[in-house]
Amino acid sequence: MTANRPVPRPGVLDIAPYVPGKSSAPGVDKIYKLSSNESPLGPSPKALAAYQAAGSKLEDYPDGSVTELRNAIGRVYGLDPARLVCGAGSDDLLNMLAQAYLTDGDEVVYSQYGFLMYPIYSLSRGAKPIAVPEKDFTADIDAMIAAVTPRTRIVFLANPNNPTGTYVPFDEVKRLHKALPGNVILVLDAAYAEYVQRNDYEAGIELVATSENVVMCRTFSKIHGLAAVRLGWLYGPENIVDVLNRVRSPFNVNSAAIKAGVAAIEDAAHLEKSVAHNNQWLGWVSEEIAKLGLKVTPSVGNFVLIHFPENKGKTAADADAFLTRRGIILRRVAGYGLPNCLRMTIGTEEANKLVVAALKEFTGKTA
Ligand SMILES: *Cc1c(COP(=O)(O)O)cnc(C)c1O
Repeated sequence: MTANRPVPRPGVLDIAPYVPGKSSAPGVDKIYKLSSNESPLGPSPKALAAYQAAGSKLEDYPDGSVTELRNAIGRVYGLDPARLVCGAGSDDLLNMLAQAYLTDGDEVVYSQYGFLMYPIYSLSRGAKPIAVPEKDFTADIDAMIAAVTPRTRIVFLANPNNPTGTYVPFDEVKRLHKALPGNVILVLDAAYAEYVQRNDYEAGIELVATSENVVMCRTFSKIHGLAAVRLGWLYGPENIVDVLNRVRSPFNVNSAAIKAGVAAIEDAAHLEKSVAHNNQWLGWVSEEIAKLGLKVTPSVGNFVLIHFPENKGKTAADADAFLTRRGIILRRVAGYGLPNCLRMTIGTEEANKLVVAALKEFTGKTA
């Protein structure tokens, strides 16, 4: 039978639309938005100035090859700019990878609580996302290796992962890579790399440099405080970079984003300040919330996953409603299969203290 209206390719209607973090609370004047892992310090003042200056000339197309920004990233990280691809957020790059390398019947491996865009982009290309169970809210490398079949084309690993905040040591990432056939791409999504303070962590630069099937994605949305401009970059081997440049929209990064990105990546002092702020508050927030009897998954990112009990009146949904009434917006993560958790972005000192005080009231702990 012929359908009487347009029908998308198989897989598309299996996608549950992505629901972004809330950004408002009805009837509350002052909002503390801690729902999307944005930077409480905002962008570098130099990036803001560069963005605004770009706004005075809008009639010309951007530089489609994003040369100025690729060169700046190359200088800062010591990378060959020819092996960098920029995107409208790292989402754009993840989507390009799916577009170029996936087709109907392929399989994509990712970890159980991995970033939701991996199954979404996979399904949109007709591929089957395989979610591999985690251990202690951390990617289980042995189980991921075991999930690889002759149909696997991409393995996505967010490291550190969102929404859990956990990470996989570099030795384990290398072990995963070693076990993959050469035609499978390992995508290391290092959106939170700058925040990690662990000697056994590596974002992926070394592995990309020494192999032909590994890419690393980075973003300006988190530590650089530029989520609104949509900017990300990828470091990859020559063959993959060549492929991505074929499928990439010709002007996928706008002129103001390029200017803001260059200023941001060159402002090492602002980056340091943002890292220091996170170091100071990640530990404090984790400890204070744990003291209230709520489990907090140990995080190396700029957010924490808070676990709530299932008893009526004390659930994650109840806590969310309680906090929202006070203008504090955390992230519900039921869509990640974590209905009993809320994710909290590390905020300003004021916001962090407010959350802890509000949760103290919510849990009824007087300590
Ligand atoms: C926030 C985030 C990104 C970044 O997305 P952009 O499109 O660059 O804003 C990528 N991966 C993970 C795991 C994230 O949490």
